[in-house]
Amino acid sequence: MNQQILLLLGVPGSGKGTQAKKLKEHCGFAHISSGDLLRALDADPNGDPEQKKMLADMKAGRLVSNDLIYTLVFAEIEKQVALGKNIVLDGVTRTVEQAKAFDNFFAEKGLLDTVKVIEFTMSDDTSFKRLTKRKICSSCGYIIPYSPDNELKTVCEKCGGQLVVRADDAPEAIEKRIREQGNVGVAPIREYYKSRGNYIAIDAEQDIAGMETDLMQVLQLA
Ligand code: AMP
Repeated sequence: MNQQILLLLGVPGSGKGTQAKKLKEHCGFAHISSGDLLRALDADPNGDPEQKKMLADMKAGRLVSNDLIYTLVFAEIEKQVALGKNIVLDGVTRTVEQAKAFDNFFAEKGLLDTVKVIEFTMSDDTSFKRLTKRKICSSCGYIIPYSPDNELKTVCEKCGGQLVVRADDAPEAIEKRIREQGNVGVAPIREYYKSRGNYIAIDAEQDIAGMETDLMQVLQLA
């Protein structure tokens, strides 16, 4: 198979992380999540102190600086490309400025034609409801999306750690995040990618399994 880079777009809680993990588990994609890279930096006692300072924005529900995103994500993409991996990028472009910077990066590396953009479309209302109900493992960082089956879980299915609410999933931070990163924030990025001609939408109001089926059809992996 030729190199494939999937760039997942969508409001917070639209299922980008959940579907990216499935692509990793079932299809061998490397999963690169800017949020996970930032949380790993936060948890790393040896992390660069200047970079760690920039994480205050994340904790308050704001976007972190572009420079930090480019430093962390470009390096990770280069590493995975060198390993010959297909890549799923989860939430890495949150502004048109970032979308253009990533396109420039891909063009420089000769990768632009391998990029497909997939948006998981969802209303801000559903985003709010899902974020207030999802959990994260306090030991391994695994995110447990909201679903009726997951609602009563208290321990992580991967490592047995305690499930807690994510620091930036407190209701005030969620409201702020949806104001900035909800559909108002996503719309110009969507328009940018539509004009580039590599944009595909998948309905994210449906359940996790339905989204996976649609995604596999889109990727013609099913
Ligand atoms: P996520 O895990 O994708 O929901 O991201 C968690 C938080 O990390 C976001 O609310 C932002 O504060 C920050 N973040 C993740 N990706 C980016 C990005 N591409 N640009 C700026 N901030 C980001």
